[in-house]
Amino acid sequence: MIDSHSTKFLPETEPTDHAWDAASGNPRGRCFAFSGSDMLILGTPHESPRIPSWDDLRTWDIPAIRYQYLGTLDGEPCWSAELASGVPVPDIATLCGLRTLYDGLSESHYAIAGRAAQIIAWDRDHQHCGRCGDPTERVAGERGRRCNRCDLTAYPRVTPAVIVLIERDDRILLARGRAFVPRRFGIIVGFVEPGESLEDAVQREVREEVGIELARIDYFGSQPWPFPHGIMIGFRATHLRGEIALGDGELAEAGWYGAKDLPEIPAKLSIARRLIDDWAHRRGFVIDQP
Ligand SMILES: [Zn+2]
Repeated sequence: MIDSHSTKFLPETEPTDHAWDAASGNPRGRCFAFSGSDMLILGTPHESPRIPSWDDLRTWDIPAIRYQYLGTLDGEPCWSAELASGVPVPDIATLCGLRTLYDGLSESHYAIAGRAAQIIAWDRDHQHCGRCGDPTERVAGERGRRCNRCDLTAYPRVTPAVIVLIERDDRILLARGRAFVPRRFGIIVGFVEPGESLEDAVQREVREEVGIELARIDYFGSQPWPFPHGIMIGFRATHLRGEIALGDGELAEAGWYGAKDLPEIPAKLSIARRLIDDWAHRRGFVIDQP
């Protein structure tokens, strides 16, 4: 991830005059274009990938099925665009998944790309009303689509998940899910259920998955997780009572690990890693893993 604190993204739903090409009436500026879950970039994922412009797409003769205005980055209009699946791209461009772009894109471009992916998917999936099936129309001034017939309005969905680092003396609880990369350990994560507070969700997930009660639960930070439309809300907690007893089969193993015996942990892309690095920092050491 390339640091880029000097750039500023201003989210907007209504394109300004500046976002249109005056002569042709076409959109202008940066285009975060996706074919399925793959984004169109100039170059390759690990060698300074760049976000194409609308001019690039027109030069390459790549049409957008539909597009959405996202806002401006340092004054430059940014759009998302849905491309057909299997669309041919020129040799100087690549279609690739967001995860592989984490190291190559700037922080601001990566964040806009995640936003673009979610808005494209929402727009695609809400062309018709979820209640009565009639066509929907874009609502002016907000990110919504409304049914002409029954007035149901759909907004982009964000699904919250809690993630928690549990400390017990000088060790932390690490667990390996059945669906994880072999040998890779993570921390406890789960979706928030209707009617729960975030803290309730943390305690429930931990109880269900490893049978432990927590003493305190402190907010740490959050991270959009556009795979496909999540937000991870991170917490730090301390062990109160109970020994590890694996629950309903999501986890293959779990244990307490200290500085000297850490297994392979998540890559720096994730808030899980930020939580673990924060713990290491407070303990006065640095984790030597990518
Ligand atoms: Zn309807």
